[in-house]
Amino acid sequence: MRTLLILGATGSIGTTALNAVRQKKLDVRITGLVAHSSSDRLRALAEEFSCPFTLNTDSSSLRSFIRANRADIALNAIAGAAGLEASLFCLQEGMDLALANKESVVMGGQVLFDEAKKNKARIIPVDSEHSAIYHLLKGRPDAESLVITASGGPFLGRGDLENVSPEEAANHPTWKMGRKISIDSSTLANKGLEVIEAGFLFNMPADRIEVTIHRQSVVHSMVRMKDGSVYAQLSPPDMTLPIVSAVNDDRQVLHEVVRPLSFSGLTLTFQDWDRTEFPLLALAYKALERKKSYPVAFNAADEVAVAAFCDRKIRYTDIARIVSAVMEEDWSAEITSYEDIIVQDRLARLKAGQLCSCHI
Ligand code: NDP
Ligand code: MG
Repeated sequence: MRTLLILGATGSIGTTALNAVRQKKLDVRITGLVAHSSSDRLRALAEEFSCPFTLNTDSSSLRSFIRANRADIALNAIAGAAGLEASLFCLQEGMDLALANKESVVMGGQVLFDEAKKNKARIIPVDSEHSAIYHLLKGRPDAESLVITASGGPFLGRGDLENVSPEEAANHPTWKMGRKISIDSSTLANKGLEVIEAGFLFNMPADRIEVTIHRQSVVHSMVRMKDGSVYAQLSPPDMTLPIVSAVNDDRQVLHEVVRPLSFSGLTLTFQDWDRTEFPLLALAYKALERKKSYPVAFNAADEVAVAAFCDRKIRYTDIARIVSAVMEEDWSAEITSYEDIIVQDRLARLKAGQLCSCHI
């Protein structure tokens, strides 16, 4: 039986993964569980799955826990920038990584992939769009471009967003997710992070990654081939499939991980996105084109701005203004190590924090 270590066990992805284990959709033994502050919940889960657990309070104890509870594969479902260090620790232990924490790829970039290569470990995406593309590219590696689908969030086509509350912004039309990613889905900053993630994961330049708005979240993404054909992956919107596929990693034939898709009465629509309506997605494209420290700055500025919005310190529409102002700075410093990433991440957070205070 495969062994699995889960980081971010108490969150939305962690909960879906543990449900898949309970329902025997995932045939694994859990070696350990990590979370941040939900101690009672984590303790109860550790008891249920008979495994050790830890709250990530400092780097060295996290590293020791990961080392002591090494598994065949680690699922990194930590939210936000804190996930990068955890990803690197897992890779350094030679573990394959089922990666939900997109920030690891956006911030880590080449540093993350070099670490995987050095330790002969693999990175398998869990983000639904990237999971779809990862499977579509198997057997057809010469894709002309990638087409990432976006739900468009709760405010598509709606003006006057100045007074939107964090609760309204977090109310995603098709997916049930953690707060940060739900708010990012309403601004399409999440799609921006995914464009950068796809650029690094599949080694694609920004001009070969398209985004199309697809309200139903049934087509998870597509690959466009040189001959003009397009391949797509479809399933009901349920993260169980990408999580189970990543952890299973083609080892067993999977049966009915999600309910079969019914085509009766199913309508699929696609539409272009607008740069004025979704400036954060346009900024993310710029970050991928420029690379260097730009993706780190984009991620950090967005994280700070979304946290300030959730604390009601800035308005919804200030999120894009703040990220845009941070991206105007010079982020051309090269990144070659984890330390470089942390330096640029702190600089961008400082700048974004100052801008948030100006908006109070
Ligand atoms: P949630 O906010 O629901 O859960 C976050 C999890 O991370 C919790 O278990 C939390 O622990 C833990 N955590 C937070 N900070 C730390 C830390 N410093 N150290 C260790 N654990 C920490 O997030 P989601 O599950 O929605 O998202 C997780 C990741 O997956 C994100 O990167 C997101 O972008 C990505 N993702 C999520 C999808 C989804 O459907 N939810 C879809 C695709 C990608 P605690 O409860 O103790 O605070
Ligand atoms: Mg996604």
